[in-house]
Amino acid sequence: MAGKPSLLKAILLRDGGGVGRSPLMNRYETDKFDTQLFHSTGVAFLNNDLEMDGLFVTVQIWDTSGQDLRTQFTYCLLSVDDSQSSKNFTNWKEEFIYYADMKEPESFPFVILGNKIDISERQVSAGEAQAWCRDYSDYPYFETSAKDATNVAAAFEEGVRRVLATEDSQSDTISLHRKPKPSSSCC
Ligand code: GDP
Repeated sequence: MAGKPSLLKAILLRDGGGVGRSPLMNRYETDKFDTQLFHSTGVAFLNNDLEMDGLFVTVQIWDTSGQDLRTQFTYCLLSVDDSQSSKNFTNWKEEFIYYADMKEPESFPFVILGNKIDISERQVSAGEAQAWCRDYSDYPYFETSAKDATNVAAAFEEGVRRVLATEDSQSDTISLHRKPKPSSSCC
């Protein structure tokens, strides 16, 4: 494990508000369902310490985009009760790749979270979301609920696992910089 970083930075991308970004981060950090914590405190990131395969790491998950930021992996958040959030997803992922100047986006560790699976009237089925993720470089897809805690830790930890599995994670870090906006707009 020599050479592996002990601090990993990730960002959480989403299509607009209301998909549960704040409650998900709060669930992961405090194991409570609280929609207000990150909104009301203005906190931009959370830190979570964890042990994975004998290695102690801190994962820092940023609740932001569009700032200069170094990131090693990215969580993409959509809500299964909002079909528009997954339809718009292609645009905002492309925009992220553009801002990050990624050389090999197909091998960058994206993890997709379909949140609010506790809601019975879903608009995006698990099969649709999985098929969509398979089409895009086989990104891992997790169905989560910030409300009842389903899969929240597993989803966040998959990003860590993927980064630690790479030969030299330090060299995979990419930076987001302000650039002129491409034609499509998002986030
Ligand atoms: P954000 O803008 O993406 O941070 O999302 P909000 O915090 O504004 O959440 C939007 C709404 O979705 C709120 O009413 C939350 O209570 C609700 N919500 C968030 N996550 C879940 C979830 O996993 N299940 C359910 N049923 N509601 C959720």
